[in-house]
Amino acid sequence: MTTAVTTSESSRRQFFGHCPELSRVNSLETELERARELSESELADAIESIGFECTRCGACCKAETCGSGEGDAHTATVFPDEIRAIQTRADYDWRDVARPMPYGLSDGSGETFEWALQTNSCGDCVFYEETDGAGGCTIYGDRPLVCQTYPFSVDLGGTSQPMGEAVDGEGMVRAHECEGLGRDISRTEAEDLAAALKERAISDLEEAIAVRDTYDPQETDGSIVVHDSEGPKRPDGSVID
Ligand code: SF4
Ligand code: SF4
Repeated sequence: MTTAVTTSESSRRQFFGHCPELSRVNSLETELERARELSESELADAIESIGFECTRCGACCKAETCGSGEGDAHTATVFPDEIRAIQTRADYDWRDVARPMPYGLSDGSGETFEWALQTNSCGDCVFYEETDGAGGCTIYGDRPLVCQTYPFSVDLGGTSQPMGEAVDGEGMVRAHECEGLGRDISRTEAEDLAAALKERAISDLEEAIAVRDTYDPQETDGSIVVHDSEGPKRPDGSVID
């Protein structure tokens, strides 16, 4: 599966590619309020109703076709604090963990507004490993929120529509392409997923608001600048003063 776990990049591009409109600014704040008020119990009810058990097919961690090119590489949003948490696992360099989200870049230069998990030469997440035909995550305990919550997202009714088209939905929960949908899930697992889903909805919006508020346009001069919630950065994660 390609771009299986991207978040609200398209809405951010609309946001930052042009002058922000007041209505959109307000909509992010409104969505954050809604996210903070989400009922984990209701989210868990919806997840139980849709049903899910991961089959470890690996589709949400891999590019569609090995070596099919940058456009088809796996893209999963990862936030700065999540990158640092992964770095500590094995003294990873920033670039070992993350790369600039390719959306909005042209010929290896330009400004972008998110980090994506690093990919290998096949376009798969570098932390994906297959053993005896089953997929596995080598950083499972530190995998980003977007991975913890796949294939679900929350529709807050605003500009951010995480992960593209939904294939199923219940209440505010949306389900995205995944062969594990429709399977029985325990209440405990549904509640854990619901808690992570709420945390992700809040984190995603807090990050988007911080990026909006700290955005300082940069001359790229053939290079790439990533604007995250901590300001403009080079692809190696160093801050541009
Ligand atoms: S979450 Fe879904 S797509 Fe991802 S590995 Fe599990 S079953 Fe496959
Ligand atoms: S971090 Fe783990 S769960 Fe997330 S895409 Fe990579 S291998 Fe999959």
